[in-house]
Amino acid sequence: PGTERPQGRVVDDEEGGVLFLSGSHHSSSSSRYGYASIDKQRQRLPVFKYRTAILYLVETRATTIIVGETGSGKTTQIPQYLKEAGWAAGGRLIACTQPRRLAVQAVASRVAEEMGVKLGEEVGYTIRFEDVTKPDVTVLKFLTDGVLLREMMDDPLLTKYSVIMLDEAHERSISTDILLGLLKKIQRRRPELRLIISSATIEAKSMSDFFRMRKKRREPENEEHGLQVEPVILSVEGRGFNVQINYSEEPVQDYVQAAVSTVLLIHEREPAGDVLVFLTGQDDIDASVQLLNDEVQTTGKHSSGLIVLPLYSGLSRAEQELVFSQAPRGKRKVIISTNIAETSLTLEGIVYVVDSGFSKQRFYNPISDIENLVVAPISRASARQRAGRAGRVRPGKCYRLYTEEYFLNHMSNEGIPEIQRSSMVSCVIQLKALGIDNILGFDWPASPSTEAMIRALEILYSLRVLDDDAKLTSPTGFQVAEIPLDPMVSKMIIASSQLGCSEEIITIAAVLSVQSIWISGRGIQKESDEAKLRFAAAEGDHVTFLNVYKGFHQSGKSSQWCHKNYVNYHAMRKVLEVREQLKRIAKRIGLVLKSCESDMQVVRKAVTAGFFANACHLEEYSHNGMYKTLRGSQEVYIHPSSVLFRVNPKWVIYNSLVSTDRQYMRNVITIDPSCLLEAAPHFYQLQQSNHLLR
Ligand code: ADP
Ligand code: MG
Repeated sequence: PGTERPQGRVVDDEEGGVLFLSGSHHSSSSSRYGYASIDKQRQRLPVFKYRTAILYLVETRATTIIVGETGSGKTTQIPQYLKEAGWAAGGRLIACTQPRRLAVQAVASRVAEEMGVKLGEEVGYTIRFEDVTKPDVTVLKFLTDGVLLREMMDDPLLTKYSVIMLDEAHERSISTDILLGLLKKIQRRRPELRLIISSATIEAKSMSDFFRMRKKRREPENEEHGLQVEPVILSVEGRGFNVQINYSEEPVQDYVQAAVSTVLLIHEREPAGDVLVFLTGQDDIDASVQLLNDEVQTTGKHSSGLIVLPLYSGLSRAEQELVFSQAPRGKRKVIISTNIAETSLTLEGIVYVVDSGFSKQRFYNPISDIENLVVAPISRASARQRAGRAGRVRPGKCYRLYTEEYFLNHMSNEGIPEIQRSSMVSCVIQLKALGIDNILGFDWPASPSTEAMIRALEILYSLRVLDDDAKLTSPTGFQVAEIPLDPMVSKMIIASSQLGCSEEIITIAAVLSVQSIWISGRGIQKESDEAKLRFAAAEGDHVTFLNVYKGFHQSGKSSQWCHKNYVNYHAMRKVLEVREQLKRIAKRIGLVLKSCESDMQVVRKAVTAGFFANACHLEEYSHNGMYKTLRGSQEVYIHPSSVLFRVNPKWVIYNSLVSTDRQYMRNVITIDPSCLLEAAPHFYQLQQSNHLLR
């Protein structure tokens, strides 16, 4: 592709030798009414001014780092520029990764619309268990960072791609960090591969340092190509209007309630403009949607004209599309979102932001070996991003549901990369499968902790995925690596093939991969609990899932049946889809598909084979259902959503933990302690085995 030299001012950053491109502030406003053509709209985006510069840099540099405010057009425009410049010629593909699945779908669908093509043809997307691309037709492919990482298992050099854009790099998701390390390696072997790292914050400097480190080991091949290996940072100046920040005067007790009151206050007092509320997850989002809707219905007067919409992953397509559609004249849209709307998705028309100050974050404690999704305070960097969402179309306002003192003195400056707060089990197995043996010596953009690494090796060894030399075992280790699920789930599936219950276990794995198959919500708790009892199995949730699946199947996969039984139809369709895909993978890796009919003993054995590390026993003198984990002696309780809640069997295994006031076990099954010893003798060492047999 031929490109001209960039216009604009090129500043040399003395210290680092980093080129910095800056341009004058973009002045035109996007809040023009009327129907500008798609081309006009595209040309109004801040990134358009840098089109030539971007293409020039991509052509001449191995790695280009692009920083630009959310909404400036990085995600939707740059892949199109690359295609227009010929980077997709000759059967090559352009990839753009996102950490979040919902963002992948939304962005791909927007780009297909802009290009006037059908989604799944020239523009496609791939997320886990969903591939909407067409071989030889798709040239722009949006995918999660996790999927791209998986693709490396079949094609380690990612040869079909000409340019890979790692988007949302500031999020520092675990897969993005691993990809950064791996792509740096790939570039040495494939100098023609171009890398774009794009980010909403200036943390780009550390990225650039990371890619510059190769200077120490000069690559002659690259220089022969006339290619500059030094990465360059291009900063796209967005428009961003002023946002007035309002703090809460007192610390807020209940941020759901506070968010609801704030929205009503905005609606009463402020001129037109949509509202974006940041809460943490489906639970508190659904709760506040309901509170606001109740308000609209009962008081009517000052809340009429509100359209309240949730935004989180796991929404149906129709619900997703509502979020992006324009509110009817005279109505005010209120979107209540997780931090997906912080930088990954651009919502038009937002003028007011309400920031709870929290998000759901993953935390891992290598000592107790417990990984949790916890509601935790956000960083100042996040708070600034959230506020920025109010200033896209005109000056806006941000209401922070915390005090200024808290913001200034107690919030951390930046978030911690996910890799430093996650279990390393999946990561280790993927690197091993890619032939990277010295994992501690891997070139990480941010190093994971040694404790977490040792823990992961230990668990993988117990799962018999790694051998004494920490190499993948054959066939188990390789099979586990092939299944795109948590290694514990994959191990459970492999064990089920030997135990003759793979049909059942694959159903269970599919159910565990969706958020929840139950319909829940305020006001229907009693009915849904009763419905659940109709399926409840004494063994626990996993077997209950099998009963639901059976009923659903027998009903002819009917949505009415789901409705009647408080089962989420949308989730069940997903279960069917995932199940089919898992069966295909199982066959490919040589597993035997077989049903155990009604022998639930083997089902429990298979679950134990994968999840033995999550075994817990009821505290003998506990009257409140307290369990302790076998390994770390951590206090845990059965989650109220489990069919074993209040039943409290002596020995259980859980699938995951959620932490609120306590640590709750979600998806629990009873086990026979002797199976633990059988499944993982070296994991449960002698002293514990005495305890087990007591
Ligand atoms: P960035 O990646 O820099 O945050 P995007 O490329 O996502 O920016 O968005 C650029 C512009 O495209 C937005 O300002 C918005 O006007 C438009 N846009 C993006 N996604 C959508 C969508 N789903 N619906 C309507 N407009 C959209
Ligand atoms: Mg983007």
